[in-house]
Amino acid sequence: MARKPRESKQRPARLDLDKIVKRARKFSRPYRVDRGKKFRLSDIDPRDTGGLGSEAKPRAKEALANGIHALARLQDMLYAQDRWGVLLIFQAMDAAGKDGAIKHVMSGVNPQGCQVASFKSPSAEELDHDFLWRCSKRLPERGRIGIFNRSYYEDVLVVKVHPEFLKGAKLPPELIGKDIWENRYRDIRSFERYLASNGVIVRKFFLHVSQKEQKRRFLERIENPDKNWKFSASDAKERSFWKDYMKAYEEMIRETATEESPWYVVPADNKWFTRVVVAAAVIDALDSLGLHYPEVGPDKLRELAGVKKALLAE
Ligand code: AMP
Ligand code: MG
Repeated sequence: MARKPRESKQRPARLDLDKIVKRARKFSRPYRVDRGKKFRLSDIDPRDTGGLGSEAKPRAKEALANGIHALARLQDMLYAQDRWGVLLIFQAMDAAGKDGAIKHVMSGVNPQGCQVASFKSPSAEELDHDFLWRCSKRLPERGRIGIFNRSYYEDVLVVKVHPEFLKGAKLPPELIGKDIWENRYRDIRSFERYLASNGVIVRKFFLHVSQKEQKRRFLERIENPDKNWKFSASDAKERSFWKDYMKAYEEMIRETATEESPWYVVPADNKWFTRVVVAAAVIDALDSLGLHYPEVGPDKLRELAGVKKALLAE
């Protein structure tokens, strides 16, 4: 006897999910940059909370909780389907809230479906390779969400602000010309296009904190013993290159924001807001893949019915 297709059972709470996805898209769109050329960092205010006052904080927390629930569901389908990979890249100045955003937004996701990599100052082995090498080794498998806490973008940020790092990178000197940044942007664009054609979608987040708020968070890290470990004197030193960093970020976004691999420039002076925008953008990205649980064909259904019968007869 033929059974009805199981489509409706495969996506329970489908209506809720649709609603959350729609809201998430609308909420995150203003921060999405997918055509870099006209982008100006000064158009984004780090203090922006999308017109919501601090009285909206409890509602935002609730929205985040719903979002996390939706994300867990989408990720479950991503894993079950095992076709697409998702790469989320986080870049920011120190104390902008990368770690907290990653922790909160991914808190409901099955750890088996997630692969996180942090990229620090490159090791001697890493410097012995091209700049994409260490990151390409950590790309997510199909069915997984990969998170890069910093990435190959450091090679057009910190390295551009401190070009002396290029000397340590062991590049042949004749390749360190004035075109080096143009070449790196182009290589990154090509790399991300390559990933997209292979089923790995890339979403990039710049958590945009103000210099004033960074100072407040640094002081908190110094004053609170539980946060001392998060602070190093070199963080404060980098702060003095603020203008250079902002210039490098702006140019990086202009050169590497594409329809396929957009940047999200997320206001980061208010952590509750940052996290909702990031969660919304990730939901939008996962939804864009049209995920569904693998279809079960008639043979498999017959097999399941047979096993069920045998189990019940035990
Ligand atoms: P954190 O993420 O705060 O632990 O800091 C990691 C540090 O490593 C940051 O100061 C980055 O700028 C630095 N870093 C990451 N990638 C590179 C790179 N390719 N070259 C130089 N420094 C880097
Ligand atoms: Mg740091």
